[in-house]
Amino acid sequence: MRLVIFGPPGSGKGTYASRLAPRLGVPHISTGDILREEVKSGSELGRSISSYVSNGKLVPDEVVNRVMEKRLSQEDCKRGFILDGYPRTLQQALFLDRFSKIDFVINLNVPDEVIVRRLSSRLVCRRCGAIYNRITLPPRVEGVCDKCGGELYQRDDDKPEVVRERIRIYKNEAAPLLEHYRRTGVAIIDFFYEPDESGGDVSPETVVDRIVKALKGSSCCF
Ligand code: ADP
Ligand code: ZN
Repeated sequence: MRLVIFGPPGSGKGTYASRLAPRLGVPHISTGDILREEVKSGSELGRSISSYVSNGKLVPDEVVNRVMEKRLSQEDCKRGFILDGYPRTLQQALFLDRFSKIDFVINLNVPDEVIVRRLSSRLVCRRCGAIYNRITLPPRVEGVCDKCGGELYQRDDDKPEVVRERIRIYKNEAAPLLEHYRRTGVAIIDFFYEPDESGGDVSPETVVDRIVKALKGSSCCF
């Protein structure tokens, strides 16, 4: 089962992918995590990646393709994988096609307003990096980290204007990729955000159950 998962920032993509992976018995491959690891390792490759990652710029295709080819060649990918954060350009998608067939694309659709609400209520601890949410996961004392007493703040890129810009960039990036998979006959399974009865977010487990059901229902192979 070889899957690609697409979704805007704040869609819960990484959260779902990490829970879906053990259900399907395949690894969750987060390109962002792999690139950050490479940077941490201090390798030459890592040094060439670091300026892109720290500036939020896309790492050049040939570098990402090389890193991903290496990762996807490992033993644990024999039975499949869930790709999160790759491909992000048409060139990457074409490279991946040559390397491996994709069975499904999972496409998470979340209204802009929900994303803005979610991300702009996110708070981060200045000292230990713990993540809170003003609405869904508030700290015991306003503005103070439960774990270490550090000050909580809002990341610059989580401010509403910036979130809207991140959504715009994502849409520009995702459209040609979805078009590519549509054109080449890869099944795209769309999921549409639905709030729970009280208007809040449903649990990740519920969403993952839905995804597993949809995959099972779709004339596939497991
Ligand atoms: P974000 O969703 O904020 O981009 P990620 O964790 O997915 O966060 O990625 C972190 C950084 O890693 C990106 O800003 C970019 O520099 C790099 N990166 C991740 N995936 C790719 C990719 N497929 N192609 C090029 N660069 C990537
Ligand atoms: Zn803290």
